[in-house]
Amino acid sequence: MCRTDGTVLFAAGTAATAAHLRDARDGSDAAVEGGDGTWSVPSRSGNATLRYSFDLGAYARDVDRVTAAVERGGAAMAILSTWLVEPRLPSGTVPVIDIRVTAPPGLQAAIALPPVDGGWRLQGTTVRFAGYSVIGRFDRERMRLPAAGGGVATLDVARLDGELAVSRAELMDWIRKTALAQVEYWQGFTTSRVLLAVVPTPGRPRVVFGRVVPGGGVSVMVQVGARATLPELWDDWILPHEFVHTGMPMIIGRANWFMEGAATYVEPVIRARAGFKREAEVWREWIEQMPRGLSALRIGLSGGSPYWGGGLFMLLSDIEIRRATSGAKRLEHCLRGALRAGGDMAPAERWPLATFVQRCDTALGTPVMAMMVERHLGRSVEVDLPALWRDLGVRPAADGVEVDDSAPSAWIRKLLVMGRAADKQ
Ligand SMILES: [Zn+2]
Repeated sequence: MCRTDGTVLFAAGTAATAAHLRDARDGSDAAVEGGDGTWSVPSRSGNATLRYSFDLGAYARDVDRVTAAVERGGAAMAILSTWLVEPRLPSGTVPVIDIRVTAPPGLQAAIALPPVDGGWRLQGTTVRFAGYSVIGRFDRERMRLPAAGGGVATLDVARLDGELAVSRAELMDWIRKTALAQVEYWQGFTTSRVLLAVVPTPGRPRVVFGRVVPGGGVSVMVQVGARATLPELWDDWILPHEFVHTGMPMIIGRANWFMEGAATYVEPVIRARAGFKREAEVWREWIEQMPRGLSALRIGLSGGSPYWGGGLFMLLSDIEIRRATSGAKRLEHCLRGALRAGGDMAPAERWPLATFVQRCDTALGTPVMAMMVERHLGRSVEVDLPALWRDLGVRPAADGVEVDDSAPSAWIRKLLVMGRAADKQ
């Protein structure tokens, strides 16, 4: 139902959605003919109503893609736009949509939107950008975590049907501790409400794929291989990487390198501090992988790998932050500062990079991030990585790395991964 004057055009996101939508009726129960996946409904007394049936199970079986919808056992996981048609208001404004689900006993709905009296509200974003929903019979655990903004954050875990080599307790323990590792880094969980959909994936080892969708409320989808062992889960980067994204806003203006770079650089740091990984392994990974970012820095971050180009930028920034503050501040102060200033992934508002940089530098008390962006964005920089590793006093060795504490910037290298000197080393 849509509160408005005039005629409202309801539009299905895709042809597949339109094909599974049946029995469209208006507020007076008269059939509404749809053409081209749209339904035109005149408002009566200021309300335009479109009722319809949608067979989510059949749709999910047809589409069967984790980025759109899948059916597993008695539940379907689906991006909201797959089953919710979008009202297009005559004024062109983005409507506020309240969703209520009446489910038979035993069925439940987990939707990545803020709850409002008995339902959920989609506000400030179009249906097209909204996140996941899980509807039907599925295993669910709501984890309560300290929130970065104070109070309690909820991580709503919806585990779809399907065999996994790990037990339920092992899976949930891994998820909880992965979330708590973020709590440690950000001093509280990143977002007050996150839906995490876990999709078992037959025949596969490890974690297969992960994705975060921010619109209207944050949802994370992670595919866990049916053959994934417990050590593989603890050794995996995907879920911690997606969680880092939830602590940052969507940054507009070709700033993918900044978001992916932060997630790529911070993820192993978080895992090392939580004890999932050794400090030496992080250095080994950086020495091996950071060269993949060189070409992106050579072209002013206008292309190349956003992950490693941005990751190398974050490594260089973390070093500069320590240098500029004599070790008092670190990259996490920048990220936490922006998060405290409202920069999690949930708000409809997207930030220009300049806003993020300014809030970061306010938290640092010195404009290091502005200087780093000025130095690299749109400028070709040739980074001499072997010289950087020598300066930090670290080089690859048979079982990880060898360190040289007499190197000029060894004091920074000692702080970089673990945050504080001799802390949990
Ligand atoms: Zn990412």
